[in-house]
Amino acid sequence: MRLVVTGGAGFVGSHLVDKLIFSGHEVVVIDNLITGSDRNLTLNKNLTFIEQNVAEYIDVEGKVDWVLHLASPASPADFKRIPIPILKAGSMGTINALGLAKAKKAKFLLASTSEVYGDPQEHPQKESYVGHVDCTSPRAAYDEAKRFAEAVTMAYYRFHNIDVRIVRIFNTYGPRMRTDDGRVVSNFVTQAIANKPITVYGDGTQTRSFQYISDLVEGILKLMESSYHLPVNIGNPHEFTVMELAKIVKRLTNSESEIIFKPLPEADPKCRRPDISVAKNILKWEPKVELQEGLKKTVEYYKSLKVGSA
Ligand code: UDP
Repeated sequence: MRLVVTGGAGFVGSHLVDKLIFSGHEVVVIDNLITGSDRNLTLNKNLTFIEQNVAEYIDVEGKVDWVLHLASPASPADFKRIPIPILKAGSMGTINALGLAKAKKAKFLLASTSEVYGDPQEHPQKESYVGHVDCTSPRAAYDEAKRFAEAVTMAYYRFHNIDVRIVRIFNTYGPRMRTDDGRVVSNFVTQAIANKPITVYGDGTQTRSFQYISDLVEGILKLMESSYHLPVNIGNPHEFTVMELAKIVKRLTNSESEIIFKPLPEADPKCRRPDISVAKNILKWEPKVELQEGLKKTVEYYKSLKVGSA
């Protein structure tokens, strides 16, 4: 197959691209490198890279079987720093990517997010939960962009008969997250390796459920193989407090770091855990990599970057 992957130079996108290339497919990556890096792309005759913002009209020559729309900054640190590019990637970017799928008669996959549930009042979160998002909070740039992205994807499905998939991705970690990404796993691991203070925001009682990148890639591929067009949660339902994560990372790295407290970012969700019944029943998917195992691989990655050495 020939697939277009927007955001293919990013953390999730590049792992997916690697898997597609490994499986013998041809891939065209479109990425403006706002948070991705061309270092994430391995040179291959089946890989073409177009450096472009998806919020601008996109065109690709030749046949296209799939458009996988993953382009968007995804760290809460980015929500504050670059909210307008995020809103454009989720709105205009999704329309452009859907337009490409329509023109090429290609199938379409949207990378959506657990952030569509906001600060959830239902726990764990099922796909049927409509969410609890404050549309004027600093997080809204990402949350509302992705909610709009889902809405426009469903409109193209209903109105133009585009064959769509929507994956709601829960907290995911692993190699290739930027060291300055700002999300909790990359922050804690890089801080611990460098023996710098581990920064817990708030009192650390808020929870998240952490999924290793290879599990997410498997989930996306299974969703593509299915014919299910409604949103599907892909995440690891094993839930931890942020303080538990800090202690696990500190222990795994034999770190001398102290754990310090910083203010909780505005609108930070208090809890998050996916209900993955739909993925289990329809895709026959469930995550395989437990937190300690995935963290060990992530620690090795950051050590190989010489994080923390002078
Ligand atoms: N967090 C933290 N210290 C950090 C970075 C994040 O305590 O250095 C917390 C953050 O406040 C949130 C959780 O970890 O409660 C997960 O944050 P992340 O930015 O990874 O993603 P989110 O799930 O909020 O989108």
